[in-house]
Amino acid sequence: MTYTAEPTRYDSITTARSGRSGLILPRVSLGLWNNFGEDRTFETQRAILRRAFDLGVFHFDLANNYGPPAGSAEQNYGRIHQLDFQPYRDELIISTKAGYQMWDGPFGEWGSRKTMVASLDQSLQRLGLEYVDIYYSHRPDPETPIEETMGALATAVRQGKALYAGISNYYTPEETRAAAAALRVEGVPLTIHQPRYNMFDRRIEELGLLDTLTELGTGAIAFSPLDQGLLTDRYLKGIPSDSRAATGRWMTESNISEAYLDRAKALNEIASSRGQTLAQLAIQWVLRDPAVTSALIGASSVRQLEDSLRALDGAPLSDEEIARLEPLAAK
Ligand code: NDP
Repeated sequence: MTYTAEPTRYDSITTARSGRSGLILPRVSLGLWNNFGEDRTFETQRAILRRAFDLGVFHFDLANNYGPPAGSAEQNYGRIHQLDFQPYRDELIISTKAGYQMWDGPFGEWGSRKTMVASLDQSLQRLGLEYVDIYYSHRPDPETPIEETMGALATAVRQGKALYAGISNYYTPEETRAAAAALRVEGVPLTIHQPRYNMFDRRIEELGLLDTLTELGTGAIAFSPLDQGLLTDRYLKGIPSDSRAATGRWMTESNISEAYLDRAKALNEIASSRGQTLAQLAIQWVLRDPAVTSALIGASSVRQLEDSLRALDGAPLSDEEIARLEPLAAK
């Protein structure tokens, strides 16, 4: 059936500006790392993406290697884009990345100019798009000069194959500053940084990355704000057979320890006392810092997506609530 986007889609979403740039993102964005490969039905993927857009989520995040197999998430998104989202291209922010293992040989990963340029061309083909909105260096390359990796991002921007440049998993302020400086020389701003950030992973606070980003005028989009499902009610009554812990490549049943469950239950009680789910609380917690532009969630069903998006309706976290969460939200 032909898709027509919900006319009210911008009514309930809230948005924020990425640093000091013109790029505006929904405060909750959707990532296609898991749940969009060949292991999931096309119609479920399509339903999640349609519902997301109908609810005002206009940013979808991808990478060359998302699947499984690597590349299939871009292919599936490309098919769905062609079927449903083409009329809305100018409303959508689509991102992709290169840096992790993608093809054989020395250029199939990391950050050489050869890798970054070739990978973006491959991604555009799989996505069926003329350009992506954001192109990221997926991880720092300790061997390649930062000027080369950032120079390749700048080339992509100059060629119009990407509109904005970003970096991901550059955790220290030093490597982030070096990337921003190398881009600046090319006349391209570092618009966005994509680090991992959630109540159980506060590395970026400890390293002072958020302060550095604020100073640089670069936005932050926090990936895995639900810690892959650990910061939800998914595991409170056992390990569902279709969950990431039961089936996953990235976490296992050993993550669901007694110590974890004690903490998750205590967090869940605080969420319940606020009249919300743990997923909603976890998203609001990540967004409490003004340096965080967007929380980049995953969802394996429309129901999960809808639940998570209701985080944006929650009452702001008070200082007292944040203090109550502190001992549970520390490593
Ligand atoms: P989350 O932390 O949001 O975890 C998503 C998982 O949590 C879902 O697949 C689901 O697990 C569970 N879940 C989601 N919503 C709910 C809910 N409301 N109630 C109960 N369970 C829920 O994010 P991801 O780890 O999936 O990462 C999100 C995105 O971040 C990725 O798609 C990617 O775009 C980006 N990312 C970037 C990386 C990088 O290196 N730059 C690395 C990792 C992610 P289940 O599947 O078991 O149902």
